[in-house]
Amino acid sequence: MATRVLLVEDEHALVEVLRYNLTREGFEVQNCGDGRQALRLAQLNPPDLIILDLMLPGMDGLEVCRLLRADAATARIPILMLTARSEEADQIVGLAVGADDYVTKPFSVKVLIQRLRALLRRAGGEEAHQVLSAHGIRLDRRTHRVTVNGEPVHLTLTEFRFLETFLRQPGRAFRRDELLEAAGGDADLVLERTVDVHIKSLRRKLGPAGEVIETVRGVGYRLREAYGSQDVSASPATTPPKPGKT
Ligand code: CA
Repeated sequence: MATRVLLVEDEHALVEVLRYNLTREGFEVQNCGDGRQALRLAQLNPPDLIILDLMLPGMDGLEVCRLLRADAATARIPILMLTARSEEADQIVGLAVGADDYVTKPFSVKVLIQRLRALLRRAGGEEAHQVLSAHGIRLDRRTHRVTVNGEPVHLTLTEFRFLETFLRQPGRAFRRDELLEAAGGDADLVLERTVDVHIKSLRRKLGPAGEVIETVRGVGYRLREAYGSQDVSASPATTPPKPGKT
């Protein structure tokens, strides 16, 4: 699956240019022009990288950056900040609050994409973001393969996206509408109760491992946290320890 980029920019013309070019380069782009919404989107379904404009209406880029770094779900996402030439002092502040790099407007799209790729490499490589695992369940975003204790499991796209969402944030309870949003624009997902149908099917396909998807009464669903387990590698920056047996 493609590397996912969240583009936070309120300048419509620039969004169009970047969307077009990033998509052409093989990135999957989600965009929004509002700081608060950016935080919500990033926490719900953490992207591989965030392009964050400094000057945004409402909450500015520095505050968004600070809050992203303060939340465990988003703390490690590489952030490339966009600034204007007149904002040099802010660039320094931006790096201080946790941006990884910045590009000054106006910039060439080619340069931006080079910097973005460099940042992804530095952050542990695009590869590191492709595999999520916990409880013996392993999900490879690139090949779209899922295995349970090494045995392949065949999921629909919606089931795959739900599982991906759970594996990204073990222990977090997701509301049905959040799961729908995370699954993104699937035409058969018009009603929240269809979430229950997909979850039921997902659990069944995962077999005994399916019980780790827990119902949270009055809320929705979550993946059971794997306490002290060695198979949790949902956090891309963490290398799971090798089993101790030799
Ligand atoms: Ca702006």
